[in-house]
Amino acid sequence: MSQRVSRRNFLRTTFGSALGAAFAPSVAAGTRVVSRSGAAGPIAISSGNGLRATTRAVQLMRDGTDVLVSAVSGVNIIEADPEDMTVGYGGLPNEEGIVELDASVMHGPTHRAGAVAGIREIMHPATVALRVMESTDHVMLVGEGAQRFAVAHGFPRENLLTEKARKVWIRWKESRSDRDDWISPEESGFAPLIEKGGTVHCSALDASGDLGGVTTTSGLAFKIPGRVGDSPIVGAGMFVDNEVGSAGATGRGESVILTAGSASIVAAMRRGLEPLEACLEVLRRIARSTRSKHLLEKPGRPNFNVTFYALRKDGQYGSASMLPGKQFAVSDASGNRLEDCPSLFE
Ligand code: ASP
Repeated sequence: MSQRVSRRNFLRTTFGSALGAAFAPSVAAGTRVVSRSGAAGPIAISSGNGLRATTRAVQLMRDGTDVLVSAVSGVNIIEADPEDMTVGYGGLPNEEGIVELDASVMHGPTHRAGAVAGIREIMHPATVALRVMESTDHVMLVGEGAQRFAVAHGFPRENLLTEKARKVWIRWKESRSDRDDWISPEESGFAPLIEKGGTVHCSALDASGDLGGVTTTSGLAFKIPGRVGDSPIVGAGMFVDNEVGSAGATGRGESVILTAGSASIVAAMRRGLEPLEACLEVLRRIARSTRSKHLLEKPGRPNFNVTFYALRKDGQYGSASMLPGKQFAVSDASGNRLEDCPSLFE
């Protein structure tokens, strides 16, 4: 299927949801898309692994907690979960077996942001990013400096590499090549089935119409040490404009950086696009601008996934992915649920 929302996903999203009646189709640039005509906040949306994050964020916002503090507190649950191997504790390490984490936050009411990149041994990089925002005149701290800042603020240094993640990493090393001295028990025939990406993003809107966003990740599994993805880059992995909305990204960070993904989505919403239309517009741009052969299944069709999430100031939200099969999490007055992401390609 060409560059448009896959019809199957469109139908699933429109009619498959228990909230089907609340969805109103709209038409944009030859593409049929859907967006919920939302009630105002509290509402939180996130990547599919973030249902517990959105649930907690909305609970906290109902209790009067600041919108960004609520969102960060939500993703802290995922950071601490060793079973999520894409975020925080238990995240898959870099190619040397060291877990390096990235995170960014942005607070709509003050238009301030904070970020950390390549931070080691600190379980909650999203909270450290919040401290950078609150307690410094900077936006981003990296590597050793970020770690020292976190320790100075009382964050404990911990080993973030779980046994499960270490075993996956060592299997990856063993199965990489038959031209080195690493041999797996299966004599190199073993190809671990590993999803190399993953991240949690959460965008939140409170009852006063204030917005906040956070993205936190262990980045690409087995990355070159020091590699930084989109997640800690304000405007790429996450962006908030309190007049317009909040957006975030998961998936191949390099492509999100090259399109200033989240800032572009917020800019598109400022121009009047529905959240889902805005996500699709930037996905199309990524597809059009991807030229490297190793990233293409065929011309114009990337072989990697990117998923965008957008929450507008009026409570409308949307999410879309390059390739099918993704879901996103929503918590609002109707409850907590996962919804299907329409995809650009089938
Ligand atoms: N966006 C993350 C990164 O590039 C990874 C992912 O979400 O899959 O670091």
